[in-house]
Amino acid sequence: MKKRDHLDFLCTVSELGAILAGSADVIGVLHRLVELVAQHMQADVCSVYLYDNATRELVMRATFGLTQDLENSVSLAEGEGLVGAAMRELRPILENHASANPHYRFVDGLGEERFESFLAVPIQRGVEKVGVITVQRTERNHFEPDDVMALRAVAAQLAGTIESARLLMDVKSAKAMEDTVPAVATDRIVRGLSSAGGYAYGLASVQGGTKDALGHGRQLPHAGLVEFREAVERTERQISALQTTLGEVLPEAAALIFEAQILMLKDESFVGAMELRIEEGVSAGAAIADVAEGFASFFRGSAHTYMQEKEKDVLDVSRRLLDNLAESEGMGGSAEKHAILVTRDLYPSEVVMATIEGLKGVVLVGGGVTTHVSILARAMELPLIITEEHSLLDLPEGTHLLLDGATGNIYINPLKDVVEQFDETARQRQSLLPNVEMRDVTLTQDGTRVHLMANINLLSELEMARDLKAEGVGLYRTEFPFMIRSSFPSEEEQCSIYCKLAQAVPGQVVTFRTLDIGGDKMLAYFDHGTPVNPALGLRSIRFSLRHRDIFIQQIRAILRAGVGQENIRIMFPMISSLDELREAKAVVTECAAALVDEGIEHCSNPAIGMMVELPAVLGTLDAYAAESDFFSVGTNDFIQYMLAVDRGNAELSRYYCAHHPSVLRGLASIAEAARAQDKDVAICGEMAHQRRYLAFLLGVGFNTFSVDPHYLSYMQETIATIDLQEAKAYASCLLAADTIAEAEVCLERFAENRLSG
Ligand code: PEP
Ligand code: MG
Repeated sequence: MKKRDHLDFLCTVSELGAILAGSADVIGVLHRLVELVAQHMQADVCSVYLYDNATRELVMRATFGLTQDLENSVSLAEGEGLVGAAMRELRPILENHASANPHYRFVDGLGEERFESFLAVPIQRGVEKVGVITVQRTERNHFEPDDVMALRAVAAQLAGTIESARLLMDVKSAKAMEDTVPAVATDRIVRGLSSAGGYAYGLASVQGGTKDALGHGRQLPHAGLVEFREAVERTERQISALQTTLGEVLPEAAALIFEAQILMLKDESFVGAMELRIEEGVSAGAAIADVAEGFASFFRGSAHTYMQEKEKDVLDVSRRLLDNLAESEGMGGSAEKHAILVTRDLYPSEVVMATIEGLKGVVLVGGGVTTHVSILARAMELPLIITEEHSLLDLPEGTHLLLDGATGNIYINPLKDVVEQFDETARQRQSLLPNVEMRDVTLTQDGTRVHLMANINLLSELEMARDLKAEGVGLYRTEFPFMIRSSFPSEEEQCSIYCKLAQAVPGQVVTFRTLDIGGDKMLAYFDHGTPVNPALGLRSIRFSLRHRDIFIQQIRAILRAGVGQENIRIMFPMISSLDELREAKAVVTECAAALVDEGIEHCSNPAIGMMVELPAVLGTLDAYAAESDFFSVGTNDFIQYMLAVDRGNAELSRYYCAHHPSVLRGLASIAEAARAQDKDVAICGEMAHQRRYLAFLLGVGFNTFSVDPHYLSYMQETIATIDLQEAKAYASCLLAADTIAEAEVCLERFAENRLSG
């Protein structure tokens, strides 16, 4: 028999878009998938069982080769039979003589008795159980370890799509809801919270928010089936275009945000249900609103956080459908160009759409903003202010609004000179943008070499880092791709993001910090519970070690992305004991060994280092230095934990003091311990770019600084004015201080000397 070419197959599977485009509905996607897998594996049967969270059962949803009439009616409890065992134990099960296995459970009428070779692989999305994929063949001993690997890769790659299909199939209808808005005053300033900076001036375009937007469907009485189908097509085209644009601006997020929405537009239980209602005589607008509200309330009522998040996708795609329908009725649904959108709810796709459509800014009323919406707004340079002032939703269309992203102020009908003043400030800021010629190397005044690297959150920031000649990526916050999506990225998705990063700076150091979620960085789709004190909870490396599957997927993705790259580094955040460091390092070793076994190319020995962020490590720094290739100090957290001050609480800012004597001495001892063992030591927290501390940090021995790319030119310029001997003397002065007040005297004296000198 011909050997199966798994690589070629995986490439086919990764053409997910093509599978989606070629199928009419969600079930169609699964049927295409099982057929494709069966053909490739030379199997007689391939089936997909989806896991039902509520009943903890696996339901056979699609099969190629077994009795199709039994789809949706065959169910197995978790742990029941070999399929159930694969789900419960979360591992592949290979059986080459099925009839002899006492655990094999033949389901009446399925016609499975003749198949002896059996392979089942669990499908998981992050920590979520999605289902099981099985292949079967009549002859014994058909499947080999290679096949296990290939089916696992298929399961990993398609987990997102299969999960979306599962959610859609689970949905039941529910009732509509209504809302009201209060009256408004004008000519005043409303205070809000700036989520993405910048300044914007334009005319208000008010959307009553999600609930009103769906209600608005009922005021479109004329549209019928023809208009509805046109609206579906237009919506699909728009979403695809959005996906392409987003892919250019924010490659980490594109597929993830819109994949579920594209699936919905192909789904019988969603679009099909709307069509049915229209055929029954309901107007298209009302049909969209009814069905969407049913779906939304189903997701909203779920006990699972990640299911609740799906409500946003439903409302997002439905609102766009309604807007397109409104256009066909000549009522215009979208906000105008050059306007400032005032809205009750804001979805990731709207941020992208708003920017593409030329909106100037957004005021979000009442809604808490999810992290990914504000990160997106920042990446798209869209000023975004959040306010609790609900009366803004009642502003007359076309009211003049000015948003000041720096302060979070919203000016309603601002006076002419206020606008002129803002215009002038914006012009000045523009002229201050870095426009400098960077030197290739950074030197102190006396010629000591210093390394400047970039902190990167989004791939879009790489260009600036490269332009400003960063010598590599000193900190890549890998949690960002996790935060801007609505579900866990798979190993493949992570690998492709990490590859883009590594390839963007060939030959340079790229430091992948493993997931640092929890604390102030919660995932919207993961149930973190309600920890009393999240900063001291299951965050960062603790989260990764607790959720091994997620950690392993990430480490594998990093190692795979590092193939052919010499300077890949892995860095663990929030290490609190040597035991933890060893445990995390062991995971890297295990992942590398597994990749060798599987014959997958990867980087076999990346440098492995740790962030120094907790005072707990200060007592045994030499032991950590012996077992780490490098240290990087996260001063943001180091100060927070050293002084027990919440880093995000503005009211406590006077206690958040980088020149507290214990912080300064701690930093000096970290640099000393690393240098004593000839290990690299860097600073990657905000303190790295604060002018008043730079000489101190150089003086105690830090010679690598990783900063937001915006600061690179300023850093190079400032470092060139510092003499290392002077910096050392200054550091000694600061280290001698026993009180904050003494340290302040020292800081001021140094600043004055520099001014007068
Ligand atoms: C830090 O703590 O200083 C750091 C760089 O990490 P983060 O800000 O991502 O917690
Ligand atoms: Mg930190």
